[in-house]
Amino acid sequence: MYSPVLFLFDRSGDGLVMLEAGDPPRLPSPGDLEKFRDSVALSGKVVRSGENSDMWARLAPNAPTPSGLIPHNRRELATMMGQDLFIRSGIAFQMMNLTLKNKFCGVCGAEMRDHDQDRARECPTCNNIAYPSLYPAVIVAVEKDGMLLMGHNVNFPSGRYSVLAGFVEPGETLEQAIGREVMEEAQVKIKNIRYFASQPWPFPASFMFGFNADWESGEPTADGVELSDLKWVTPNTLPDLPPSESIARKLINDWLRRRGVIPI
Ligand SMILES: [Zn+2]
Repeated sequence: MYSPVLFLFDRSGDGLVMLEAGDPPRLPSPGDLEKFRDSVALSGKVVRSGENSDMWARLAPNAPTPSGLIPHNRRELATMMGQDLFIRSGIAFQMMNLTLKNKFCGVCGAEMRDHDQDRARECPTCNNIAYPSLYPAVIVAVEKDGMLLMGHNVNFPSGRYSVLAGFVEPGETLEQAIGREVMEEAQVKIKNIRYFASQPWPFPASFMFGFNADWESGEPTADGVELSDLKWVTPNTLPDLPPSESIARKLINDWLRRRGVIPI
């Protein structure tokens, strides 16, 4: 049965979520909001119509973490609590940001309010409507002779490699964005771009479109800015890989399965 929870976020851009200490840790329930009232600056329902909704809340400035709660990275929820709560935490985070970033109208400055029907905020003065942010991004597994192109991003933990990714720019198709990103990041030209799968990735507001592609020409060369290293990987030379809930890992696991290897 669906039981609503309370996602209480800290003030960081990535939105650490508070869990009740314990074994296993648990999410607080909406009824606990009253208990945390002194620590919370802003709160709301994730689904605005109906009674049985998850709630989101954000810690007030300088408010300490309420006692009994421990902040966790939202990415951890997938392994700790399953895919359903991981997805729900992302929706709650994006609904919080919709309210947080649209208190006042960016066009006329009036105070905004929740939209009657849509998952949006509206300005009662000039009718400006703000929707939740979604930033389209592409991620691609580039293959050559059974090898996979993987890069070490400068922000990754040491030894971690992943397939290449980047944001879509205005005016681009997804395929154009992939071609440009791989050329910019790796100096490699690709062909045979095939759709793989998609995934919401609310860190803070990405939406990932995953693709497969084949190498056409060029020697992989790291740009030194975003990527500090690039290499062709085989199933026998696997580096540290991204976490299993990411579409990056799903692309890598799909490649491993096609190479006859059961993914870890
Ligand atoms: Zn306005």
